[in-house]
Amino acid sequence: MIIAAMHEANNETRVAITPAAVKNYIKLGYTVNCEHNAGELAGFNDAAYEQAGATIISNRQSLLNHANILVCVNEPAPSAVIDLSPQALLVCPIDHEPPSDLLNWCCLHQISVFSMNHIPRISRAQNIDSLSSQANIAGYRAVIEAITHFNRAIPMMMTAAGMIHPAKVLVIGAGVAGLQAIATAKRLGAVVYAFDVRAAAKEQVESLGAEFIEVSQNEDSETAGGYAKEVSDRYKRRQEELIDDYAGHADIIISTALIPGKNAPILLTKKTVEKMKPGAVIVDLATARGGNCELSVRDKIIHHGQITLIGYSNMAGLIPATASDLYANNVVNLMHLLTSSSLKLTFNREDDIIRQGMLCHDGQCLPFQRIEEQQHD
Ligand code: NAD
Repeated sequence: MIIAAMHEANNETRVAITPAAVKNYIKLGYTVNCEHNAGELAGFNDAAYEQAGATIISNRQSLLNHANILVCVNEPAPSAVIDLSPQALLVCPIDHEPPSDLLNWCCLHQISVFSMNHIPRISRAQNIDSLSSQANIAGYRAVIEAITHFNRAIPMMMTAAGMIHPAKVLVIGAGVAGLQAIATAKRLGAVVYAFDVRAAAKEQVESLGAEFIEVSQNEDSETAGGYAKEVSDRYKRRQEELIDDYAGHADIIISTALIPGKNAPILLTKKTVEKMKPGAVIVDLATARGGNCELSVRDKIIHHGQITLIGYSNMAGLIPATASDLYANNVVNLMHLLTSSSLKLTFNREDDIIRQGMLCHDGQCLPFQRIEEQQHD
């Protein structure tokens, strides 16, 4: 059974199989093929793959023809995987709605598709959950990115030349990325405030030493699966006032707010940005879904007056070796679940993880059903 990874398109720096993962696949019984220079931008050269036991293949057509499983960090274009053989399995992040060209193409060509975006948020699936592993790295890097564009120091310092006040960091959205941003900013000595529409986030924010800004004690916008849902208009108005107020005092804002299946909520208006202190920095981690800030631009750093807005949509890709290691581990853990003892792929549809993740099998697009755990972590 051959598992393969490509050199990905669109300046992607991450790679889906790392040399460490190669060793794990070989232990599982797989043969690993990697495209020439697949891990180059993450700092893994071909020699490291060969040392781990992989075969390097320069010809994309041959790589895909022979692969039983192709693992990707991003959703590839159909033209990039056109040489996959029928019955192959493609593992990548892909959404079921609206069905993409890739999903339609895979159904037509009998290629099975497992989506890394559809791992249920249940305890058993935590080690496969690449949305979390990548969001965690993105939250960390967002703070590092912000401070490199911020022209002041972060921690409080008492020096003979004068006192330096600690920077104030506002985090909007305290999910996986937001909590890591809070932890990172705290470790650097900032004073941190955070918003979230889920009441459960309060305890998590406070456990990291940040202040939770409560919009309403009567409204909790959390679904049974632990995600956010849309808030009432009254809540929105009150939140807007509070964000406006806290943004005016913030040196750095990291925004991460998302609602599954919807565009990112706009929480930072032009008017709010214009009230911020000169030199302040906003990192908008939601630009792939439209952005939390009215002014941010996907994959660009722009300046609005004296405010810097950072809109990188692939923040995890700025730490490519670590992000690839974690993504590759997530997929290795998935392959443990999908591989039978006789080294055959098994798609047990009774298993919640497989049922939710499999988007296409035997030429059929499968109905998506979100599996939620009441007692999520
Ligand atoms: P996400 O990326 O979908 O959203 C980021 C955050 O934005 C969320 O905390 C959300 O509540 C918040 N948000 C949405 N609208 C907002 C608004 N208007 N104002 C302020 N904040 C807003 O979330 P995520 O990071 O993927 O995590 C979602 C949930 O899943 C969390 O409860 C997390 O702890 C949980 N989770 C559980 C597991 C597990 O049990 N295996 C794994 C990962 C995450």
